[in-house]
Amino acid sequence: MLRASLFKGLCCSLAPLSAKMSDKRLIWSGALAEKVAVITGSTKGIGFAIARRLAQDGAHVVISSRKQQNVNQAVATLQREGLSVTGTVCHVGKAEDREQLVSKALEHSGGVDFLVCNAAVNPLVGSILGTSEQVWDKILDVNVKSPALLLSQMLPHMEKRGKGAVILVSSVSAYLPVVELGVYNVSKTALLSLTRVLAMELAPKGIRVNSLVPGIIETDFSKVVSTWKQSLRSLTLCSVLLPSRVGQPEDCAGLASFLCSPDASYITGENIVVAGFSPRL
Ligand code: NAP
Repeated sequence: MLRASLFKGLCCSLAPLSAKMSDKRLIWSGALAEKVAVITGSTKGIGFAIARRLAQDGAHVVISSRKQQNVNQAVATLQREGLSVTGTVCHVGKAEDREQLVSKALEHSGGVDFLVCNAAVNPLVGSILGTSEQVWDKILDVNVKSPALLLSQMLPHMEKRGKGAVILVSSVSAYLPVVELGVYNVSKTALLSLTRVLAMELAPKGIRVNSLVPGIIETDFSKVVSTWKQSLRSLTLCSVLLPSRVGQPEDCAGLASFLCSPDASYITGENIVVAGFSPRL
């Protein structure tokens, strides 16, 4: 608190008016000040909203996704808002890209505090039994293996900090599978287990691991799955469980910031649903 108000005073005296306005959240909370956050799949949608929020809350954020053009655009947008961000291309399924992401993250201050594994694919909408081995491999590689592999590459640099937080982005389809989403459902359920196993393994190192479980969030990804809402309706079978609105990427951002913050320092191994309803009711 003392540190936040000192920082507030410093910013007020040194920063130009526009910076003061755009840094308002940072000045008020500063909960993530001097921290470095790496977010995969963060050039649009949920990942981008999380990137913006963590940066607003004081972190230096490393943006990444598969396409250079998207990385450039996302970085430029957030830098125009006065936020501290850099970026690099990283297809999470490629080891050399993951290594490049680690190197980019270390450029800021030689360590990493937070890793948000948000990137995922769903190349097929259809029957799980009609899924080819190639598609199985792609979904499991990108959605399940890559978060663990990236974390293992990032870990030495998180350990140096003495504590840290990892967030795996799952899906409500982990609890309420949507038949049309096939193997994707399986991959997202696997992430819930990965969260628990990693939370146990990393607790002695002071690194907390939680999963953010979005419901229906309005992004390009969910547009592809046009049947999702209908499928969810038929699966929940009880209208009282239905969300009153479609979620927005920003609905997920506050939870991500909280899970990284000192306020969550006693929370690990949890899967937290952001869906406007609870699949457990
Ligand atoms: P989105 O708007 O389509 O954004 C996906 C992001 O990931 C983009 O920045 C994309 O950029 C990047 N990306 C895609 N494949 C990648 C890869 N192999 N490596 C690295 N980056 C990659 O998606 P979203 O809806 O925000 O979804 C984000 C996460 O939330 C996913 O894990 C998804 O499963 C989960 N989720 C979403 C919903 C929903 O309703 N939207 C619901 C539940 C869970 P490039 O094209 O440049 O790579």
